Amino acid sequence: MKKVIVVGGGISGFIAAINAKNNNNEVIILERNNNPLKKLLMTGNGKCNYFNEFFSTRFYNSNNQELLPLIINDTNELLALNFFESIGIIPRIKDGYYYPYSNQAITVKNALLKEIETKNIKLITNCYIKEIKKANDLFYVYTNNEEYICDKLVISTGSKAYPKTGSDGNGYNLAKEFGHTINKVMPSLVSLKSNDKFIKDLSGVRCNALVSIEHTDEEEYGQIQFTDYGVSGICIFNLSSIIRSMLDNNKKVNIKINFLRDLDVYDLANAYRILKELSSKASNRTIAELLDSFLDYKITNVILEKLHIKKDKHYNELDKDEITLILDKLIHFNISIIDTNTFDNAQVCKGGIPLTEINTNTFESLIVPNLYFTGEIIDVDGKCGGYNIAFAAISAILAGKDIAND
Ligand SMILES: Cc1cc2nc3c(=O)[nH]c(=O)nc-3n(C[C@H](O)[C@H](O)[C@H](O)COP(=O)(O)OP(=O)(O)OC[C@H]3O[C@@H](n4cnc5c(N)ncnc54)[C@H](O)[C@@H]3O)c2cc1C
Repeated sequence: MKKVIVVGGGISGFIAAINAKNNNNEVIILERNNNPLKKLLMTGNGKCNYFNEFFSTRFYNSNNQELLPLIINDTNELLALNFFESIGIIPRIKDGYYYPYSNQAITVKNALLKEIETKNIKLITNCYIKEIKKANDLFYVYTNNEEYICDKLVISTGSKAYPKTGSDGNGYNLAKEFGHTINKVMPSLVSLKSNDKFIKDLSGVRCNALVSIEHTDEEEYGQIQFTDYGVSGICIFNLSSIIRSMLDNNKKVNIKINFLRDLDVYDLANAYRILKELSSKASNRTIAELLDSFLDYKITNVILEKLHIKKDKHYNELDKDEITLILDKLIHFNISIIDTNTFDNAQVCKGGIPLTEINTNTFESLIVPNLYFTGEIIDVDGKCGGYNIAFAAISAILAGKDIAND
């Protein structure tokens, strides 16, 4: 009878354990919190967005981008979707995002708990793994209470994003002790900080826009939220991974916002056409009133203040240069970014264990036999839309199946 220990009772730990269990082994999950799956309950605003219909490597980052097609492919997509179905998760798909039909993360938690109960997998909570040693082909797992011994070990301790959920980065040290490298770990899917003077004046504004990073081809469309320290929202989160790397390389980062994207306006000529048309229909309106037709009034105020243009001027009182400056702000509104928010507020981390040190078919370590890694501890991070849980699930299913088939 083989013994399998999974360190970490997050989503990837549970899925690894469920897939690893067969009639010939004993599987135990060790979790430091008094309750498992703490982070899972927060995902997708409590609704758990666990997969995405548009499953492709272009939604993932890794220092080994060239290895991603070995993992992010049609075969593994099917593997993950079949797994979720097999534990009774019925999908509700909205704009490609998969949620449990109940729209509640607790449905996924309960399904996973039921599965481990049925399969006779032991879950031990309040159990913090301090150290692991390997000797004579056995792993010795030292915890805050008992010592455990096993033949196969899965490290599913997550990253250091949102450390209050239990994943605080200590798993990287466990991996390092086994000779693994850790690619620089940085916060990702995180809001951005700016010290532009006007930022506080925009706090509370939410709108849809196209956001691009100056001097790059990176752009994202979606909702942007202004806060008193900077900007947030899904499109900002999706750009944060690249921005974090640029800041770390001492590059100056500016983002440009096109507020007229929903009107299919991308250049000055089209912006001019739209504003001119509106001004001729509503010639009684001031420039501020005209801009309020497109923008939240707070954005209008900031634009006109920045350009030193009086709010009560009418369109035909503005000179050509003033109009061009206004149009430019509508489609290229600039915000300088000085930092990302911290790990405390990040949804995931970029960096972690390099894919070059892991067998991408089985998620077994290429350094230590019978040692496996799953989930966010690995150097793969996805964009918003269910991509991170998708990767956590795929890595865990492949690791679990390899253990069960041994
Ligand atoms: C607010 C928020 C919203 C998110 N929304 C989404 C979403 O909608 N869709 C999506 O795909 N992704 C989302 N994510 C990301 C997703 O939750 C993670 O990528 C995923 O949970 C990673 O799973 P994991 O099992 O690798 O790690 P985790 O879920 O972090 O689990 C790791 C577990 O290991 C335990 N642990 C750590 N160290 C030890 C130790 N030494 N001993 C014992 N136990 C230990 C921790 O307590 C934890 O329970 C979100 C993240 C956050 C923070």
